Amino acid sequence: MTENTPPITSDFIRTAVAEDLRSGRFSRVVTRFPPEPNGYLHIGHAKAIAVDFGIAADFGGVCNLRFDDTNPVKEEQEYVDMIMADIRWLGYDWGNRLFFASDYFETLYEYAVQLIQKGKAYVCDLNADEMREYRGTLKAPGRESPYRSRSVEENLDLFQRMRAGEFPEGARTLRAKIDMASGNVNLRDPVMYRILHAAHHRTGNAWKIYPLYDFAHGQSDSIEGVTHSLCSLEYEIHRPLYDWYTRELGIYAPRQIEFARLNLSYTVLSKRKLLKLVKEGFVSSWDDPRMPTLSGLRRRGYTAASIRDFCSRIGMAKADSVVDIAMLEHSLRDELNKTAPRVMGVLRPLRVVIENYPEGQTEEMDAVNNPENPAAGTRKVPFGKVLYIEQDDFREEPPPKFFRMAPGREVRLRYAYFVKCVGVVKDAAGKVIEVRCTYDPATRGGDAPDGRKVKATIHWVSAEHAVLAEARLYDALFSKPNPDDVEEDGHFLDNLNPNSLEVISPCYVEPSVRGAQAGTTVQFERTGYFCVDPDSTPDKLVFNRAVGLKDSYAKVAT
Ligand code: ATP
Ligand code: MG
Repeated sequence: MTENTPPITSDFIRTAVAEDLRSGRFSRVVTRFPPEPNGYLHIGHAKAIAVDFGIAADFGGVCNLRFDDTNPVKEEQEYVDMIMADIRWLGYDWGNRLFFASDYFETLYEYAVQLIQKGKAYVCDLNADEMREYRGTLKAPGRESPYRSRSVEENLDLFQRMRAGEFPEGARTLRAKIDMASGNVNLRDPVMYRILHAAHHRTGNAWKIYPLYDFAHGQSDSIEGVTHSLCSLEYEIHRPLYDWYTRELGIYAPRQIEFARLNLSYTVLSKRKLLKLVKEGFVSSWDDPRMPTLSGLRRRGYTAASIRDFCSRIGMAKADSVVDIAMLEHSLRDELNKTAPRVMGVLRPLRVVIENYPEGQTEEMDAVNNPENPAAGTRKVPFGKVLYIEQDDFREEPPPKFFRMAPGREVRLRYAYFVKCVGVVKDAAGKVIEVRCTYDPATRGGDAPDGRKVKATIHWVSAEHAVLAEARLYDALFSKPNPDDVEEDGHFLDNLNPNSLEVISPCYVEPSVRGAQAGTTVQFERTGYFCVDPDSTPDKLVFNRAVGLKDSYAKVAT
């Protein structure tokens, strides 16, 4: 953005940021995206990333990537690496502004010492259960810890010895001395440090105590000179605590602005729940194409552009709401409709033999690559005596309004000929396993010179030239719009959709897809958009159905 371009003030955060620049409260914009490296990024994080990086870019500012890595027990380098890869894939760049809360451990320790010296923090010997009991409830005030009045000297000594590893895990904590009667439970002497004899993925065994997220987060923002600390709504009630810390420490304070978390119907966006799905084998991995993770969506066939488009469509709200997953699919379909090459692929094959077609003959039919984009050109698709069509496109006894292939009926084979069904072959159980047809050589290309019409056009693949494939058809991961909608004592896993994955094989696809690389997406005409999966082998392509052709969202939205 140049100085002359007015910033986009289309939402309440941009409006607030623009006002801060106008009023001189801040002279530039620094935001940050602060993931905890304890899981893979999901579509909710994409929203936060779009907000953090997007707003910085709109105002000519910068956005930091900071890992909030204060919990060594749940954090791993693998997550750090994947999170960075996912953000880059989404199309955002933090330049050289990569930070880790763990880089501030020494400073945070000094901050804690300062608060002890001010009489604003104390070492507490209550265990976790006792602390919970002393904490009170939303309705009842808490009680003061018996250790609250320890002297500054004793607190400094104990805290230093906590650091030195003299005490077992859980034996003591360092707490802020605020107000046990506060209506905001976060201000009832929150824990700042706990003892954890755990190795950290960056600091190794250097520390025996670790700051809690709430003690690290605001101060990390402060250290980095973040101007606008944008976060989801659940942090609103933590804001008074962040403000308390910066005020008592007398350090620079950013402005925190909260926005609504993204919730998507039929899925979960909690790392804890996603981790459970992975660890307990309900999905194959973090990048299982049914997962709402960025890696899962990518493997499913989602593009970065479609996810960014979705994030901008949902906009920014101050109140939590649930977004229809159909809206996410809409963004992908919209893009793929313009970009994905069309191919013919048969998911549930039924063999067709054209009796009057010359044995051993092959013709090359001209097919349009993308009717939405004439520049994509045409390709040749081989046609022969033996074909596959979809089982669904044939009925031995067609119901009313079924206009596709049936005995005695003529239909068009896309880009090829009119064919007429003249018989069927059945197996011992009476199931039709082959359709016998004749073709009219005068209809090549798809029109009859005598002007006669057919009511249906169906897709096909030449058996001799077909590429063998497996198709993985995905449905929603959960069977209820809100997976947490459970009976008493129920569990979100109770709502898992048992039919979220259907694997079908063999499928046959026209030869233009031969050798397609993982990540390539095509439209199987009349069927959906399919993305080549990394599980593909030279002998068999595996296709993930990214999204179907029908847009249920456009229907409700317009
Ligand atoms: P958990 O699922 O364990 O609560 P988290 O999803 O909040 O964790 P973080 O790593 O703390 O994970 O998230 C990083 C940032 O992403 C935070 O600033 C958070 O506000 C934001 N964020 C996380 N989930 C969503 C969501 N569903 N919608 C919007 N922003 C989100
Ligand atoms: Mg969080």
